[in-house]
Amino acid sequence: MAQRSIKYVYDFAEGNKNLKDLLGGKGANLAEMMNLGLPVPPGFTITTEACREYLASGAEPDGLTDEITAHLQALESAMGKGLGDPADPLLVSVRSGAKFSMPGMMETVLNVGLTDASVVGLVRQSDAGGLSGAAGERFAWDSYRRLIQMFGKTVCEVPGHAFEEALDAAKRAKNTRQDLDLDAADLRALVDTYKKIFSAHTGRDFPQDPREQLDLAIRAVFHSWNADRAVLYRRQERIPVDLGTAVNVVAMVFGNLGADSGTGVAFTRNPATGERGVYGDYLSNAQGEDVVAGIRNTIGLQELEGLDKASFDQLMQTMGTLEAHYKDLCDIEFTIERGKLWMLQTRVGKRTAAAAFVIATQLVDEGAIDLDEALSRVSGAQLAQLMFPTFAAGGDLRVIAQGIAASPGAAVGRAVFEAHRAAELGATGERVILVRRETNPDDLTGMIAAQGVLTSRGGKTSHAAVVARGMGKTCVCGADEIEVDVHNRRFTVDGTIVVEGDLISIDGTSGRVYLGEVPVQPSPVVQYFEGTIAPGSDPLVAAVHRLVTHADSVRRLGVWTNADTGSDAARARRFGAEGIGLCRTEHMFLGDRRELVERLILAQTPQEQAAALQALLPLQRADFIDIFRAMDGLPVTVRLIDPPLHEFLPPMDELVATVAVAQSRGEDPGHDGVLLAAVRRMHEQNPMLGLRGVRLGLVIPGLFAMQVRAIAEAAAQCRQRGGDPKPEIMVPLVGAVQELETVRAEAEEILAQVAAETGVQVHTMIGTMIEVPRAALTAGQIAQAAEFFSFGTNDLTQMGWGFSRDDVEGSFFSRYLELGIFGVSPFESIDTEGVGRLIRIAVEEGRAARPDLQIGVCGEHGGDPDSVHFFHQVGLDYVSCSPFRVPVARLEAGRAAVATEGSDSR
Ligand code: PEP
Ligand code: MG
Repeated sequence: MAQRSIKYVYDFAEGNKNLKDLLGGKGANLAEMMNLGLPVPPGFTITTEACREYLASGAEPDGLTDEITAHLQALESAMGKGLGDPADPLLVSVRSGAKFSMPGMMETVLNVGLTDASVVGLVRQSDAGGLSGAAGERFAWDSYRRLIQMFGKTVCEVPGHAFEEALDAAKRAKNTRQDLDLDAADLRALVDTYKKIFSAHTGRDFPQDPREQLDLAIRAVFHSWNADRAVLYRRQERIPVDLGTAVNVVAMVFGNLGADSGTGVAFTRNPATGERGVYGDYLSNAQGEDVVAGIRNTIGLQELEGLDKASFDQLMQTMGTLEAHYKDLCDIEFTIERGKLWMLQTRVGKRTAAAAFVIATQLVDEGAIDLDEALSRVSGAQLAQLMFPTFAAGGDLRVIAQGIAASPGAAVGRAVFEAHRAAELGATGERVILVRRETNPDDLTGMIAAQGVLTSRGGKTSHAAVVARGMGKTCVCGADEIEVDVHNRRFTVDGTIVVEGDLISIDGTSGRVYLGEVPVQPSPVVQYFEGTIAPGSDPLVAAVHRLVTHADSVRRLGVWTNADTGSDAARARRFGAEGIGLCRTEHMFLGDRRELVERLILAQTPQEQAAALQALLPLQRADFIDIFRAMDGLPVTVRLIDPPLHEFLPPMDELVATVAVAQSRGEDPGHDGVLLAAVRRMHEQNPMLGLRGVRLGLVIPGLFAMQVRAIAEAAAQCRQRGGDPKPEIMVPLVGAVQELETVRAEAEEILAQVAAETGVQVHTMIGTMIEVPRAALTAGQIAQAAEFFSFGTNDLTQMGWGFSRDDVEGSFFSRYLELGIFGVSPFESIDTEGVGRLIRIAVEEGRAARPDLQIGVCGEHGGDPDSVHFFHQVGLDYVSCSPFRVPVARLEAGRAAVATEGSDSR
């Protein structure tokens, strides 16, 4: 054997559970079980490194074949049998097993070593083992036909249906639908047919050299790492593409040797609810693939006790050993061969979100883990899942369309097609679903009023999706079979016409759209956060309460909320928000205030402009009073108006059409003509890069001043009534300190005026968003004029990447994801390398210039679990997110703290 330092093959006795990178999950855990003295069939693992090298070069790395030979010889001598030896054959299974579990995505070949010669040896073995002659013969030929089928399909790409059709034909000839009715002679004939199918598709005979079978099966498992379904699964699960799979070669044990044999799967606790107790399925006289294929019905694991008490007891004891050792729920696969239990696999088992919370706290109570560890075993994504209402089983279940599951939850309501209809019906207490081709900011009032939003266009980050997620509102988007006809207030799908007022149900978790009403049940977790049920009311709520409370005690990040109304603020506060990090003031310019905004935009003279602003002032003041009250004693960051003003006028194409119609009739378009002229005057090619944010404040005299005055007067009034308002004024879209200085000077003057007028001094911090890359790069200068920074990561991502946040999702993002340019949209989860670097620079320079600078984030990323960890690491003071994400952010901030520094108390 050539001198090499790399070891490619490990006997089970040489590995352990910490070697998952190298041995894959299955191999590492088989090794761990072997070390624990559990009954594992002997075998060895070929490393992921060997797979990577094979995939890179297209050939086995030097020395691998020799190492396999050495380990195979050791296995043969341990078993006292030779691989495929005609006299007394050793058979092996060849199983894939990557670092991360990819269930069913890669390949496995069983019964390797069977040939025309060794099948006879297997008959003899089973005779000796007690199977009666006919049964033994049947078993051996069945094993052989399974090998040819699996090997043909997996290793040589023979289409699976060719074998299945031959099997069906054999059963038809026997007038049966059961595999078990085929006897040895039938199976022997089937083996002949299978061999012919194999030769016809591959141009060669089925290999009769056992070692060649083994080597080809190992290669096939290596290749299966790149099978289409495996690639797709990795992309979905965000598993890195370059890990490779390990290959486990394991001595075969047989669950299909008669009634005292069988195979099963088991969980050490119920993976759906977390309940303790025996949970699993068993199939007697079967191999693992039969369970998966669902050929016969399994029985509950508990029934095994009656069939084979000794094996059942040993299994229970083994499960106890595994749980105690892994300190977590384990799932296992086992086989009983003639009354002897064999463990074929174990791993820390997947579970539902609810079970994750329940089990984590159970393990704390059992003394297996501490609360920090329990916190690390649950996730914000799981908590978010538990907060959505769900469709209860039953009800009228007619699926009429399938769209993209954009924002989870279950919503039922009457279809409406215009935002104003949603608002009107919503105001009467009617539940509505807003159905649009796509939504735009004008639809906001309708979205707020609706139970859910359904669109026929757009992807996961379309306007509808992003806004709905932010509101915690159910959304199905891109249901493209639906033809939306806003004009006639109806949609058509596959011949069905749904008109305004018809009941529909949408499931934002599956993307399904139903006709009629599907019953909905509210989330008990939300009821708990709302304070309407007690923490002890059910085991899940108790577990959530305990872990979120623990997260609060260890987290360093504050958790604030993005809220624009008193009621949103109040809800967020119930959910645990410690302030408002972003109050967008633009919604205050919508609805019936649109007319005032129009007056402002159309004003011909400074006096007209001032009058329009003056009319808006009391309305803004009332809005702020509402919010300050809801957040009394906590900071409220009010952002001065950001979007371009033409967004408050009707869309240009609508106006063009109305004016054209009027003109074609020889009528004067009147006010519409004036509006159209204004829209044209203000039209920008790139409004996102245009006259918005601080730029608006600098060119429209009095606009920001009116807002600052409204804030100051509202705060003074609240204080006069005994409240404790803590306003912070935030300036959007600043790129240069000079912009901020100008606004700041004006704001300070107004704050002083209001203080003098009211006799009330309310300390009001003035700060800025950092959402233009230049602001991040000149943060040291900007901090001279800012008492706080808040990262606007939506715009920072848009301008950092140069991606239009309104357009990319529908266009090329899917291609970017496919190509692996990023694993997840940078608008969803912060791009730590690029945009994150801008953030790091700004934090460092900002704090150097002003050590007490308060720094937070208020872009969408503030509620994204991975991003929360990043913000913790770079040392922000708080994250701000939509009310529904507040509990998620609390949990993740706690998890970030225990992940990086142990439980440092605040
Ligand atoms: C941002 O850009 O991240 C932000 C919070 O502001 P908006 O989304 O309102 O542009
Ligand atoms: Mg912004």
